[in-house]
Amino acid sequence: MAEQHKATKSPHVLLFPFPSQGHINPLIQFAKRLISKGVKTTLITTIYISKTSPSSNTSITVEPISDGFDDGGYMSAGSDEAYLEKFQQVGSKSLADLIRKLDSDGNPVDAIVYDSFVTWALDVAMEFGINGGCFFTQACAVNNIYYHAYKGIVDVPPAATVSVPELPPLQPWETPSFVHTPGPYPSWAHIVFNQFSNIHQARWVFSNTFYKLEEEVIEWMRKMWPLMVVGPTVPSMYLDKRLEDDQDYDMSLLKPNHIECMEWLNNKPKGSVVYVSFGSYGELGPEQMEEVALGLNESGVDFLWVVRETEKEKLPKGFVANGLVVSWCRQLEVLAHEAVGCFVTHCGFNSTLETISLGVPVVAMPQWTDQPTNGKCLEEIWGVGVRVKANEKGIVTRGNLVSCVKEIMEGERGEVARKNVSKWRELAIQAVSEGGSSDKDIHEFVSQLKA
Ligand code: UDP
Repeated sequence: MAEQHKATKSPHVLLFPFPSQGHINPLIQFAKRLISKGVKTTLITTIYISKTSPSSNTSITVEPISDGFDDGGYMSAGSDEAYLEKFQQVGSKSLADLIRKLDSDGNPVDAIVYDSFVTWALDVAMEFGINGGCFFTQACAVNNIYYHAYKGIVDVPPAATVSVPELPPLQPWETPSFVHTPGPYPSWAHIVFNQFSNIHQARWVFSNTFYKLEEEVIEWMRKMWPLMVVGPTVPSMYLDKRLEDDQDYDMSLLKPNHIECMEWLNNKPKGSVVYVSFGSYGELGPEQMEEVALGLNESGVDFLWVVRETEKEKLPKGFVANGLVVSWCRQLEVLAHEAVGCFVTHCGFNSTLETISLGVPVVAMPQWTDQPTNGKCLEEIWGVGVRVKANEKGIVTRGNLVSCVKEIMEGERGEVARKNVSKWRELAIQAVSEGGSSDKDIHEFVSQLKA
């Protein structure tokens, strides 16, 4: 079936992200790059997401499948464990049904590119004799640490400094939270270590990073797996500008206060605004929320702070912001705005790649998962900002936050960080431009599909 189909039609790739904003964005963008090279793509989403946040891009075919929570999505599952278990059980069956349906519609699938968090998708692909490609949305530095933890080479939790190939020594608190504090989220810890359980059966391994950014770790990974490095998966109009309609991620799970943000930013001087966001999942405790709120207010700088609706009740009583607080924004457009001079970030890997791609220096305030390691890379390896220190209770005090913000906005470290981040931005553009390292890897993948 597949052989006959190859001769006559474009190859058809099914892309299956984990259903959260930080995982959907990279796979949508990868789909767009594949489409631009003549590949037919179908992006899988959940029924709940397709009902509540339909894609605004008509060039991408989206097929919803059931994750077992069609009416309420993740939030209705009750616990991480309940969601992840049912997602695997119902998702495997729904994925198999979709593959059959596409086949009977005359649209057979040639390859499935699945998120490394849904390893079971590879089992389904193999049942149908379809090649699978595992897509990592986290940094290769993080893959490296998780792999060694999975293999039992890094202790979980580590008792002392952690050494893994091609990275500087890491203090235990600089490893991902599931490594240094595995207790509180056992289901997530299982997911991140399990990413490697069947990777040897994947035909391809993809990573959303770029070669120059993580050269040594990438070379190490390439010794083990057929790694293709395809990032940064930031919309083309912010980088190489080759895909004209590619300005946005096109599937926002929350509604942005876009016009309000842009109007406010348009009235601010160049480089004067601090943009603050803790991503789509991050939850600050009430004490941490208060320190950030009061620190930003006392700093005297203009700030644009994203506080999701579900987080708003934790703002201090009677808090009146000296800046703009919104419940969601179009982050790329904010980072690209010339008024923005610094990003106080939780260091999610999309935010990390976006700030590098848009050339904005950071104050890194990692919270959990892979963020502590991304924060180390941002400060020590890539030199694009500073990490703000937490106290013995794990809280970043307002004083520490303000002094880091001032260091980046006004100090010498800010100047160095700005220079470095501009250099990385240029390298990111080169990677995705025609003949760049990521472009070549995508091209190679497409050639293999067409062969
Ligand atoms: N984002 C956004 N608007 C916001 C905050 C975040 O569009 O107000 C996007 C951001 O551009 C990024 C994603 O949400 O692509 C968050 O992913 P990341 O990996 O940074 O963090 P996560 O949410 O997974 O913790």
